[in-house]
Amino acid sequence: MTDKLTPKQRHKCMSHIRAKNTKPEVLVRKWLWKDGFRYRLYVKGLPGSPDIVIRKYKIAIFINGCFWHGHDVSSPSGEPEDIISSTCCKIPKTRTDFWTAKIARNRQRDAMNYYRLKQMGWTVLVVWECWLKGKEQREQTLKALSYRINSLIIDSYKGPYQIEEDNIQEAAEESEQYL
Ligand SMILES: [Zn+2]
Repeated sequence: MTDKLTPKQRHKCMSHIRAKNTKPEVLVRKWLWKDGFRYRLYVKGLPGSPDIVIRKYKIAIFINGCFWHGHDVSSPSGEPEDIISSTCCKIPKTRTDFWTAKIARNRQRDAMNYYRLKQMGWTVLVVWECWLKGKEQREQTLKALSYRINSLIIDSYKGPYQIEEDNIQEAAEESEQYL
């Protein structure tokens, strides 16, 4: 027996940073189901293969690991490839350049996927792993998520008098990505 991966397997492993059925993901999924939302998992063909998809209302939910997706990292130089650690995404002290480049790439890929989804008329919600830590914070995050989804569903039933609101939403687009 050997634990070596074939090049093909390794490629598959390296190119899929989005692990399936992670603990945070299962947690969010169970919560939403209990709260009465019905969704699909890993819908192929959508940019970034969102973790949870509520197709009817075009809501795509990503549950992101703070390390791999570079939560809250900052870029003092303004260069997207030049990032420094945050409290929940600590870039390792060894092979720092490798990890910096990798996380920066993941962040750029995420941004592109969210952008493409929005272009397709989807709302993107991101739940960060660190928001699910600790009972109180977890509850708060999950309740906020349900509230956000409910608002989006209600909004989708509004009549044609939405022009002004749409403008406001566009102005707040940056924060819209998250809960
Ligand atoms: Zn985080």
